[in-house]
Amino acid sequence: MEESRFWSVEPSVREAYAEDASGLIGSPDAVARPTSEEEVAEIVRLCADRSIPVTPQGLRSSTVGGPVAFGGLALNLERLNRTIDIDMERRLAIIEPGVVLGEFKRPLIDAGLFYPPDPTSENECTVGGSVLTNASGSRTYQYGPTRRYVRSLRLVLGDGRTTEITRSRASKNTAGYFGFQDPVDLLCGSEGTLGIVTRVTLDLLPAPPGFIAGMAFFLRLGDALGFVVSADRARQAGLLEPRCLELFDDASLDLIRPHAGKLGIPGVAKTAIFFEQECEPDEESIVLDGWLDLLERARALAEDTIIATTEEQFLELRELRHALPSEMNERGRRARDSGGGKLSTDWAVPIEALAATVEDATRIAGETFGGPFVRYGHIGNGHPHFNLLAENAEMLARAREATHRMAMLAVERGGTITAEHGIGKIKRDYLRYQYPDWVVQAMRAVKRTVDPKGILAPGNIFG
Ligand SMILES: Cc1cc2nc3c(=O)[nH]c(=O)nc-3n(C[C@H](O)[C@H](O)[C@H](O)COP(=O)(O)OP(=O)(O)OC[C@H]3O[C@@H](n4cnc5c(N)ncnc54)[C@H](O)[C@@H]3O)c2cc1C
Repeated sequence: MEESRFWSVEPSVREAYAEDASGLIGSPDAVARPTSEEEVAEIVRLCADRSIPVTPQGLRSSTVGGPVAFGGLALNLERLNRTIDIDMERRLAIIEPGVVLGEFKRPLIDAGLFYPPDPTSENECTVGGSVLTNASGSRTYQYGPTRRYVRSLRLVLGDGRTTEITRSRASKNTAGYFGFQDPVDLLCGSEGTLGIVTRVTLDLLPAPPGFIAGMAFFLRLGDALGFVVSADRARQAGLLEPRCLELFDDASLDLIRPHAGKLGIPGVAKTAIFFEQECEPDEESIVLDGWLDLLERARALAEDTIIATTEEQFLELRELRHALPSEMNERGRRARDSGGGKLSTDWAVPIEALAATVEDATRIAGETFGGPFVRYGHIGNGHPHFNLLAENAEMLARAREATHRMAMLAVERGGTITAEHGIGKIKRDYLRYQYPDWVVQAMRAVKRTVDPKGILAPGNIFG
C-alpha cells in the first residue's frame, strides 16, 4: 500500500500497531487513525473499492488476536474518543468507541450513575472493544455482559455505508428470527467482522447505595467451589445477593502475595474467593453476618476473611485481582523470547457442572501440558480462566493441546468455548465443537450480506 492522507505506511507505526495481548504479531501494510465517522466511512469505501482488508482496533488488549492485521489496513479507533452526551434524566451515555472504558466510568459514580460491565482490563481497553467482544467482568454475575447495556450503535458497513441500529423498546417482539430481532445483539461480540462501530449509546443504572467486599480463604479448592455453589443457591433463594464471586487458586495466591501489602493473605490458604454484595450502608453488618455464616458452614478460614470496610481497602482488593492477569501476561511476554508464551482458557460451564469440570480440566492441564498453570477468575459464572505458562515451543504445543481438550470438555458439559474474550484468530478451530456446520454457514452468510467483499476483520471468528 502507498502512503495516503488517510493512513501511514511508516514501518515504526506499522510495528507499533501490529500486536495485541495474545502475543500474536501481525503485519499491517498501513495504519489509519481516523478522528471522525466521515473519515472512517471514506477509508472503508476506499478499501472496499480496492479490496484492501480492514482490521478494526481499539487498545489491542484482546487475548485472541482479534485486532491483529495480517496485511491490509489496521484501522485504529483510539482517536474517535469524544463523549457526546451523558443524559442524566434518561440515564443514557452517547460516546465514541475509542473512549477508554475506565475513564468513561469514573465520573459516572459522582453523578449518581453506574455502568456495570467491569472487565479487569477496563483501564486498558476501549468502550468499542468491549462492545465488539461483548466483554464481561466480575459483576457480570449479577448484571450480565456488556450487550445488556448497549441501546444503539452507529456503524460503517463493509461497503462504506453508514447505518444506525437501535433496540426495540417494546416489551415483547416476535418479528423474525430471534438473533435478528435486535440487530444490536448481532453486533455485540462480532469482533469487527460485521462493521466498524463509530458511536455507541449505552444504558446506565442508578449508582448502588453502597456495598461490602471481602476475600475468603480456604484450605482446599473443593471447599471453595462448594462455597461458590452454596452462595449461588443462597442467591437463588433470595438469602444473599452476591454481585461477584471470583476465584484465586493456590498458584494464584502465590503470585499475588507480593502485591498484597498490608492485606495479609494467610500462609496456609490454598484458595480464595473474592465476593461483593450491594446494600444500604445501615444493612452492612446484617449482610456480613449472612456471608460469615455461609463461610463457616463451607469450612473457610472464616477468622482470616478480609473485609473491605473503606474505599481504600476495596481498591486494594480490586487491584490485587487485577495484578494476577497482568502478572501472567508479563510472564507470558518474557516466555516468548524462548519460543514459549501464556495460553489462557475462556471456557465456561453451568454452575452444576463446575466442580467436576475444574477437576477434569486440572487433570488435563497436569497430564497433557505438565507445566506451571494458575486457575482464577469469574467462578460464579462457571468461568475460571486456566492460564498455562509455556517456557518453550515444545511446551507451547502441549499447552495448545491441553486448552483444546478443555474447550471440548466444556461444550460436552453444556458450556461454551469462550465466555468473554471471543474467538479472534486463535480459537477459530473450536467453533465447530459448539455449533453444527449450518449455524456457522448462516453466520458467514450474514457477514457476506454486510461485507460482500469480505474485507472486514478477515480471519476473525472464521478461518
Ligand atoms: C490483563 C487483561 C485482562 C482482561 N480481562 C478481561 C475481562 O475481565 N473480561 C473481558 O471480557 N475481557 C478481558 N480482557 C480482554 C480484552 O481486554 C477485552 O476483550 C477488551 O474489551 C478489548 O478492548 P480493546 O479496546 O482492547 O479492543 P481490541 O483488543 O483492540 O479489539 C477487540 C476486538 O474488537 C474489534 N474492535 C475494536 N474496536 C472496534 C470498533 N470500533 N468497531 C469494530 N470492531 C472493533 C477488533 O477488531 C477486535 O476483534 C483482558 C485482557 C487483558 C490483557
